[in-house]
Amino acid sequence: MEKTGKSRKRLRAAKELNRVVTEYYVECGRAKAEGKPVGWMPPMNGAIEIFYAMDIQPVFPENWSPICAAFGLAERNFEVAEGMGYSRDLCGYMRNIIGYVHGLMKEEGTPLGGLPEPDILLSPGGGCVPVIKIFQALERRFPNAKVYPADLPQVPTEEIRQHHVDYAIAEIHRLIDFLSQATGRKLDQDRLKEVVKLSDRSCELWDEIMTYRRRIPTPFSAAEIGIMFVMVTRQGTQTAVDFLTTVRDEVKEKSAQGLGVLEQEKIRLFWDNIPLWYNMGLFNHFEGMGGVVVAETYSSAWSLRLDVNRPIEALALKSLKSYPMVSCVSVDKRVEMVIKACKEYSIDGAILHRNKSCLPITLGQMDIKRALEAELGIPSIVIDADHMDSRNFSVEQFRTRVDAFMEMLLARKS
Ligand code: SF4
Repeated sequence: MEKTGKSRKRLRAAKELNRVVTEYYVECGRAKAEGKPVGWMPPMNGAIEIFYAMDIQPVFPENWSPICAAFGLAERNFEVAEGMGYSRDLCGYMRNIIGYVHGLMKEEGTPLGGLPEPDILLSPGGGCVPVIKIFQALERRFPNAKVYPADLPQVPTEEIRQHHVDYAIAEIHRLIDFLSQATGRKLDQDRLKEVVKLSDRSCELWDEIMTYRRRIPTPFSAAEIGIMFVMVTRQGTQTAVDFLTTVRDEVKEKSAQGLGVLEQEKIRLFWDNIPLWYNMGLFNHFEGMGGVVVAETYSSAWSLRLDVNRPIEALALKSLKSYPMVSCVSVDKRVEMVIKACKEYSIDGAILHRNKSCLPITLGQMDIKRALEAELGIPSIVIDADHMDSRNFSVEQFRTRVDAFMEMLLARKS
């Protein structure tokens, strides 16, 4: 096993995903060239649907970071950011994008054409601190971009009340007014309904795909989780719906034929925290011992249905729930979510990725470990790594620890 590497994928749809990713970045570059407004925003909020409905090109700097990691560009971006004084202990998404906009972005020949400069920045006032800081740094790097200072209360999902929803609705209206003034474009309510409907259909398909992962043997492993690209960048488009339909049809067919990722599935694993984008091949490592990663924390973030008859309220609720679902959730809620997933997906063992680059999602892992053992008798292992920075990951240590863990799980099962 190498320190960096791509995963071995088994779904035919994986090839289709490459096309979808390339087309998205080509579309971003074309939008800029044709004078269409380009807006940069954090992922997972109710703004993407508004952008697509108003024909404004959304671009996601955080999502560009996994692409840089997959193309082996991240280390160069880290060097630039660290040269500017950003500590190596900070979030890898943050260091990567700051390094990119001050380095590679100014050069020709970046894979997929790189990112087009923003005309608009949706600068968040919530989420995690690094994501707020990313946009503050981008405001300084792109002084001509019009900045929308977004604001949302930091409320655990289980404590959302009507006054929070009312505030988020007011924020959606403020965003629409800002975008109208900044671009001269008006929001067509029928078009918004259409976009929200497509967005909701994506969530429905996402849930359906995840349901097939519960089957034994599972037809879909974490090695294929790159399909979430469409949930980040394409929600509210026909592209996302068509692609997810293709994935759904394939996993449904495999499931009906009883075909799993492995011929002999022995151990079902749960992965907590973000994958290592520079080494998705790690997910294949377990397969040599009959193990498949069938569920992970991240995938629950897109399990959010939208009320298509009340699009503004639906987007307000989404903006309150989706990002916090991953990074601002209470420890109790996180424990509850992992326990629920481990029951639903018939998990034998959990891998808790202690992520040096993302403290919000790492917080509470010891509580999860204890709860898994006490409530479900599921053993878990903590792996030290980093979702973006391969310098903080030892492949030898990973192999030694997970192989011993797998042997223990196999012995328990037999
Ligand atoms: S949630 Fe984690 S990975 Fe994402 S921006 Fe925040 S600290 Fe970075």
